[in-house]
Amino acid sequence: MKKTDYSCTVLLAGNPNVGKSTVFNALTGMHQHTGNWAGKTVSGAEGFFNLSEERIRLVDLPGAYSLRGGSPDEQAASELVNGLDYQCIIITTDASALEKGLPLCLELLQHTKCAVMCLNLWDEAIKRGVCIDTEKLSDLLGIPVVVTSARSGKGLRELKDTLQDVLTKEEMQSACVTETDDIPEKAKKIAAVCISSRGNPYMNWEQRLDRLLTSRVTGLPMLGLLLAIIFFITIAGANYPSMWLASLFEFIGSLMRSWLTTFGVHEIVTGLLIDGIYGTLADVISVMLPPMAIFFPLFTLLEDLGYLPRAAFVLDPVFNRAGSGGRQALTMMMGFGCNACGITGCRIIPDRRERLIAAVTNNFSPCNGRFPTLIAVTGIFMTAKLNSLTGSAAGALILAAAVSTSIGISLIVTRLLSAILYKGRRARFILELPPYRRPQLAKTIVRSMLDRTVFVLGRAAAVAAPAGALLWIMTNVTIGDKSLAGHMCALLEPAGAVLGLDGEILTGFILGFPANEIVLPITLSLYGDGIGTLSEILTSNGWTIKTALCMMAFTMMHFPCSTACITIKKETGSTLWTLLGFLIPTVCGIVCCILINTVFSIFGL
Ligand code: GDP
Repeated sequence: MKKTDYSCTVLLAGNPNVGKSTVFNALTGMHQHTGNWAGKTVSGAEGFFNLSEERIRLVDLPGAYSLRGGSPDEQAASELVNGLDYQCIIITTDASALEKGLPLCLELLQHTKCAVMCLNLWDEAIKRGVCIDTEKLSDLLGIPVVVTSARSGKGLRELKDTLQDVLTKEEMQSACVTETDDIPEKAKKIAAVCISSRGNPYMNWEQRLDRLLTSRVTGLPMLGLLLAIIFFITIAGANYPSMWLASLFEFIGSLMRSWLTTFGVHEIVTGLLIDGIYGTLADVISVMLPPMAIFFPLFTLLEDLGYLPRAAFVLDPVFNRAGSGGRQALTMMMGFGCNACGITGCRIIPDRRERLIAAVTNNFSPCNGRFPTLIAVTGIFMTAKLNSLTGSAAGALILAAAVSTSIGISLIVTRLLSAILYKGRRARFILELPPYRRPQLAKTIVRSMLDRTVFVLGRAAAVAAPAGALLWIMTNVTIGDKSLAGHMCALLEPAGAVLGLDGEILTGFILGFPANEIVLPITLSLYGDGIGTLSEILTSNGWTIKTALCMMAFTMMHFPCSTACITIKKETGSTLWTLLGFLIPTVCGIVCCILINTVFSIFGL
């Protein structure tokens, strides 16, 4: 069946963080990103599902409080409501905060008479002691109201049945609002009639936890501690699996090589397949998979708990001093997963100039493609002599310090850019703190493994295979006395030396432009891999603690990968800002590396 073969379009609308994506995923079987904070869905997603014989197209709108709001996600929602040809809207509302969802619901009913209210998060509302008369609500709105707990799948069958009913009904339904109605007033009245108990929206334990995580005194130290704990678990857990994977791939590689030789395959083809494509792929997977498989689920658990906006709140005063705000902190945290996601996430920042600055500085948050390199280098050159537990703890602290330095530099850049662009004027920061929600442990682990780890790894592998082939060709085609890769490394050697690195590492960064994940594996291939552990290969190629520090600095601060560059261009619509996004972190990285190199030379280290 073609994508365009569907009988009708249904919109899925609602406030941010009310479970729209969860409902969308449950209905369509897709895996849109869900997370416990407002603003993560910044563009509409589309999927399909069947109602009896009919195929329905479902469009998930960005979360909005009003269709007349000024934020980019609200504008996007409004454009979709006004521009799409649809037959019905599912209005998703948080049952524990019905009065907050009613104004948007009434606005939507000014656009369509055919709608269903999905009163979601019913389980949470019950836990908080909220009581809603759903029949009265349905009467007053003139549309069916279906109670759901989408996360556990409760009520979704009823939602589909009700949707089918309203889609097959001939006459239009709701006529509860006119264009002239005073929406806020009307929403207040409906809420007053239908909500018989508002329950306890803020439990005691939530207050205590909030005091610990968001107060002026403990907020920042708790953020640092949580970050360090995540790094510790990642480092401690990733070490051995990485080594096991590397040995396994080496064993499989030698088996494949002997098969190919037995079948008489030419040595050039064997070299291209095994040393080029397979070798680079194996390096990428063994270096990246273990830390990613640990880091992503841990980060997702924090996200599901509702911690990310609290971290943004804690960082708001710090970002304020840089002339920006807590929303930038939130996009920066999204950047820890993937900078392209962080840059797209900048749409949650209403002010255009603040948004541009956030987009071009997002690359200062090391993404998941870069963490494995940072972890490997820290482990080999800084904590190798310590026992495994102390080593992991020290590694976690070093990483937390390195990430904080990178963020610190991004704040200085933000300060400079906002001083040039703002001249003292700033938008106010209003961010909703969601309720704490118990993460679904097993589901989070499985989903973040499948959606994020496999996705990032798949992308890395897709890039690593052709890059490996190209690299093999570059290392095997010779001009004069050197291979092509050899010429490139030699050309970059002087620049590498100034930066405390070498020609191979710089070539790795340049050829790794499509994805940061492949920088270290390419560098290893350029060294000719050799036999031995990662540590032995690096030290035998002249790496010292200075090279390690410069490598960490340049890994955290250099040009964004190609996907992130394309995303900056798409989001800012400006070549100049894309160029700035490319140059700013690169110049910072170069300056940092030169400084480290100079300090080491002065002290004769
Ligand atoms: P969206 O921003 O509206 O798309 O919201 P999401 O679908 O991302 O959901 C926000 C958070 O609420 C996520 O952590 C979900 O797991 C959680 N969630 C969604 N529906 C329910 C529900 O019915 N009950 C509970 N307890 N949590 C839910």
